Amino acid sequence: MAKKIKQIAIYGKGGIGKSTTTSNLSAALSVLGFKVMQFGCDPKSDSTNTLRAGQYIPTVLDTIREKTVVKAHDVIYQGFNGIYCVESGGPAPGVGCAGRGIITAVELFKQQKVFDELDLDFVIYDVLGDVVCGGFAMPIREGIAEHVFTVSSSDFMSVYASNNLFKGIKKYSNSGGALLGGIIANSINAGYSRDIIDDFAARTKTRIMEYIPRSITVTQSELRGKTTVEAAPDSEQAKIYSALAEKIAAHEVSDTPSPLEIHELQAWAASWSDQLLELESGVVAGGIKAGI
Ligand code: ADP
Ligand code: MG
Repeated sequence: MAKKIKQIAIYGKGGIGKSTTTSNLSAALSVLGFKVMQFGCDPKSDSTNTLRAGQYIPTVLDTIREKTVVKAHDVIYQGFNGIYCVESGGPAPGVGCAGRGIITAVELFKQQKVFDELDLDFVIYDVLGDVVCGGFAMPIREGIAEHVFTVSSSDFMSVYASNNLFKGIKKYSNSGGALLGGIIANSINAGYSRDIIDDFAARTKTRIMEYIPRSITVTQSELRGKTTVEAAPDSEQAKIYSALAEKIAAHEVSDTPSPLEIHELQAWAASWSDQLLELESGVVAGGIKAGI
């Protein structure tokens, strides 16, 4: 019997660090010895480029437009440490349904048993933030992915996108949909940002998989077209991605989250706003007392 492939989907607000985190996660998993495929599902098609020295790959939709018969292998490109890279692609800007790429790509791979053939341990779908159309909900709704993780900072709009994602997961949780593995907290540096994201996880009955600081090493690596795991393997940041990879490899049971209703989320945010105000006035008062 073929071994069980762990299929994971990563969602989160646009620009929050999904592709950066996903690519570093794939790289770290491959360094741990796992066979990984990263499946970029964003119509921007930029998910896998730091795994391929900054090079963009032809997408599934582009390839299908050019050829009449497409085999799954035509759209798989190898990247860092043998990671298999796929980009589903999207329509020309302003034309057609953005979710079409992911539906087409998933169908192509389903028909062709490629995952078993490649003897994969992990398939990681780098999806997007706001699940605005059916195509993007597909990995959740149809249970194509087993575990969903959200990349989120402590900023309200990011938390808001994660809360919406949790609503989507809950909706399909009784009909074979994917369940929530947890939150990957990205760009978390100041003490209060950690408190905010911890509190959001507690309120929605989920967990933080890892806290990832905002780091100049990530920026430097990206400017060289590489993941941090590849460009700075001995850095503190690479160790954090490796710790994340170990936790995700060990993660077995995901669950249904408890998203907040919009009025609850607003009340939660307002209470944090008050706390930050107090914190700020405390810091100012403390500064005056200390003569700073
Ligand atoms: P998304 O895929 O969610 O749209 P990206 O992964 O493309 O977002 O990230 C957006 C930008 O933020 C990139 O330029 C990336 O380098 C930067 N970034 C993400 N996470 C970090 C981090 N932990 N430290 C520094 N820069 C980061
Ligand atoms: Mg992205």
